[in-house]
Amino acid sequence: MHTFAYLRPDTVAEAVAILEAHGPDARILAGGTDLVIRLRDGSATPAVVVDLKRIAALAPGIREEAGRLAISATTVMTDISADPLVRRHFGALADAASVVGSVQIRNRATLAGNICNASPAADTAPALLVYDATVVAEGPAGSRRIPIDAFFVRSGVTTLARGELVTAIELPIPAARRGAVHERRTRRRGHDLASVTVCCCVDQTRVTRLAYGSVGPRPVLFTDDTGTLANPSADPAERTAILERMFAGASPSARSMRASPEYRLAMLRVLGARALAGAIERLAAGSD
Ligand SMILES: Cc1cc2nc3c(=O)[nH]c(=O)nc-3n(C[C@H](O)[C@H](O)[C@H](O)COP(=O)(O)OP(=O)(O)OC[C@H]3O[C@@H](n4cnc5c(N)ncnc54)[C@H](O)[C@@H]3O)c2cc1C
Repeated sequence: MHTFAYLRPDTVAEAVAILEAHGPDARILAGGTDLVIRLRDGSATPAVVVDLKRIAALAPGIREEAGRLAISATTVMTDISADPLVRRHFGALADAASVVGSVQIRNRATLAGNICNASPAADTAPALLVYDATVVAEGPAGSRRIPIDAFFVRSGVTTLARGELVTAIELPIPAARRGAVHERRTRRRGHDLASVTVCCCVDQTRVTRLAYGSVGPRPVLFTDDTGTLANPSADPAERTAILERMFAGASPSARSMRASPEYRLAMLRVLGARALAGAIERLAAGSD
């Protein structure tokens, strides 16, 4: 393995100073389930690896404050999927976290690492998009709040600036009731990234938010506020036309080893329709 310095700062300010000094030569280590693989295969060759796990301010935790749920940067998927507040208000995020990798992976993998890795296939991304999450970042210029839809650029690239790290991900607790469902397709359960990952959320005001990933350079979000998608009795042709407009945002790569573009597009339609029907059902049943 390539040689690098391993640093364990005690504070966010120290971590920011290291990241600012080294720029792209520094890499943050959270759970390491993405980074360690890249260090091993040589696709990442940082001079410095900055472990966040000694920073008390980033300790694992999920807390409710000022109408938001804040998930700290080192909180792992196992804890997110089991958390009662996440399950009550953000059920599709709990579901997405519960299918990431395997038990061993979920015990290490953080939500912040999942989005910062910026894989188009990141399972939590569609749920964070439909729930309108905010990424809280700390950097040389102080703290900054980034809407999740403005966070992803393309595979491996986010809008984090030099010296910035993610300290938390926040989710607004909804005033209105809603139902949401996460769906994914993989070749093998537990050992593979999704060929398609979808999340759909329908709320009491009949707004439908549908997000999907693994079918283009970054996960994307579409909103229907006409009420048509949320209404199963609406004209089927109109509903199909809206869904087709949403799916037109997909542009799967022909070079992927996981699935052909044709298969991904076909599965996107199937999973998108399934997630929509499931979300409407959950809304009617009164569960998120
Ligand atoms: C066998 C296996 C199966 C997997 N299955 C899935 C799956 O089903 N679905 C899925 O979505 N993913 C899957 N993954 C990918 C991985 O587990 C997730 O992306 C995980 O959430 C990454 O979190 P981490 O804490 O391990 O990140 P790390 O590996 O520690 O970091 C990942 C990247 O994010 C950066 N980073 C981490 N934390 C921060 C921060 N706070 N601020 C700024 N940058 C940061 C790191 O520098 C690095 O570039 C799998 C991985 C493996 C090895």
